[in-house]
Order: sequence, then C-alpha cells, then structure tokens
Amino acid sequence: MGNGRWDQPGMPHKGWHCVGVHDLGDGVGSGEEIDYAACEMCGNERIRFVHVMEHPDCETQCEVGCICAEKLSSDYIGPKRRESAMKRRASRRARWLTRQWRVSAKGNRYLNLKGVNVGVRRTPSNQWAYWIGTRHSKEVFPTMDAARLALFDDYWVTELQHS
Ligand SMILES: [Zn+2]
Repeated sequence: MGNGRWDQPGMPHKGWHCVGVHDLGDGVGSGEEIDYAACEMCGNERIRFVHVMEHPDCETQCEVGCICAEKLSSDYIGPKRRESAMKRRASRRARWLTRQWRVSAKGNRYLNLKGVNVGVRRTPSNQWAYWIGTRHSKEVFPTMDAARLALFDDYWVTELQHS
C-alpha cells in the first residue's frame, strides 16, 4: 500500500502513452480465481486490466489501472475505451468455443464473421491449424480447441487495430 510511484522522485506524472492492455483474466477458467495486480502508481487498485505505459524519459514501463492511465497520459477517453474493448474481448473469448460452429464436408469447423470466413482444419500430421479469410496459420496446434483459441486471439488483434 502507500502512494506507489506517484511519490517517487524523478517520476514524470505526465507524457506517458499506452502501449497495450493485458487482461489478467485471460486463460482463467470460470470458477477459477483471477490473480489481480496492484497499480504501480497508486498501489491500491485491485486491477484486472493492466495498462502498460511508456515514457520517452523512462527506461522502464509502468503497469497501472485505468484511472492512473488516464492521469499519466492526460487522456480521459482512450484508457476507458481500451478497457471496455478488452472486456468485450474477454466475454467473447469465453463464449467462443461454445458458438455454433458449422461443420464442412471435410470435417472442418468454421464461422462467418462479418463476411470473413474463419475456421480450423485438421492437418495431415493430425494436428490443427486455423485460417482467417485466405490467410492460413503457419503454426499448428495439438487440439481443435487450442487452434480455435489461437484463431480468436489472432482475429481479435486485427479487430482491435481497426476499432
Ligand atoms: Zn493507480
């Protein structure tokens, strides 16, 4: 507890920018406990969404909650928007595997998302790979679910960049 890095000498209070937001609930199953973090700046937030901040004069990144991210970047819109995008992502990811996946004649599972055909297929080596539109994953995965979650993560990165 205490005032964290707000009181640290030489710590700039403005001019930071966000380089990413992590969801500590990522990969945590339902019923499992999320390992929350404390905000490095104020020290007393129980945060699930960690905003990673960088400053041109600082060697190290700073991992903070939404409120401190707003203060550090003087941006009172972006951090909340990024955090709600991460919340949408988390709830979609939780529902992803239980969606109504269609089964093709070859046994592949696929979905049509906003006009983009995505899916997973069994490889000749009996593993799983995914595709998004005409792009195919180079990686292969041991299970269909692992491939579907990797597909989700890949698709969502593209989605976030365009939202
Ligand atoms: Zn804070």
